Amino acid sequence: MHRADFFPLPWPGGSLRIPPNWVRGVTLEQDVYLAFTSDGRWADVPDELYLRELIDLDLQDPSAICGFTRLYGRLGDSGQRRGEDGLHRLAIFAGDELVRIHNAGQSAAEDWLGVAAARLAADEGIDYADALDRYLYEPPGPEDVQHIDEFRAHARALRNLVRIWDYHLGGRTFDELRQQWELVGGGLYEPPDTPSRALHLFSALLSHGLVPFHVRVDLRSASDSPARHDGARADLYAKLCLQIYNHVAEGATYQRCANENCRRLFVRQRGRAAQGQNRRRGLQYCSVRCGQAQAHRQLWHDKRRAREMLGLGAPAEAIAVALGRPPETIRRWVRAGT
Ligand SMILES: [Zn+2]
Repeated sequence: MHRADFFPLPWPGGSLRIPPNWVRGVTLEQDVYLAFTSDGRWADVPDELYLRELIDLDLQDPSAICGFTRLYGRLGDSGQRRGEDGLHRLAIFAGDELVRIHNAGQSAAEDWLGVAAARLAADEGIDYADALDRYLYEPPGPEDVQHIDEFRAHARALRNLVRIWDYHLGGRTFDELRQQWELVGGGLYEPPDTPSRALHLFSALLSHGLVPFHVRVDLRSASDSPARHDGARADLYAKLCLQIYNHVAEGATYQRCANENCRRLFVRQRGRAAQGQNRRRGLQYCSVRCGQAQAHRQLWHDKRRAREMLGLGAPAEAIAVALGRPPETIRRWVRAGT
């Protein structure tokens, strides 16, 4: 036994650090399920992942779902291996539908056993039966396979949380919230019919997602990596719930990117020098790149407008006033033949 220490974990209050996530290799099989390899790596969860990449993701595109999973890890966990409630964190909101998703995941796991054995047989030039035998020692389980409907259910639950929170912050109306609502799976989990139900749903759904982060004392041996200890307790769904929780706890507000081609929600601008220096107020763009793109677009518009005004005989000073730019800038454009 290695020397070990107890680590008290704090009662939630204020922001909590998001633990790293275990990201396994993954392939998309038959466009309906994700099959995970045994190799993996610890990866930090990018800031505002739930608000950006998850919102941008096209849930109708199975290869996009696979790409997301390859980068950030499995979203949603059957929980069977560790006896946790996994999918059932959503169950109070969508009972029967989750039974269907769960069964689809089970049959995907059985299907994957056959596919994996056939591949092993082909790779090593052995009989299918022998390959299957080898897998029977350690058959793929629910933790090795995920039906993409399971991914979708968790993604939609998180996206609906964003909609409710944005409604609560005044970023959208209740009608918009209902129109933009995504059914978690099939026809279940209808949009809330009153604002008060929406807020109750937010509280219940988010709190269920945060269950893995409870107060506890950990026993760590000297050889354990901190990442393994902090990260393994919760899956990506729980960690994204924790990202939302942190924004709620710090009273963050959502802004909408002022780049007319973007319009994404964000809290802090991305692409600044160091983390922790991301300013929260006074920024209109979700990323440095969006700010630059909009500045270029504005410049192009202004130069075209300046050309038109010049053509009508307007003096540089008048153009400067109209465009809100210094007269020297306009004179420089004129000299450069803009
Ligand atoms: Zn943007």
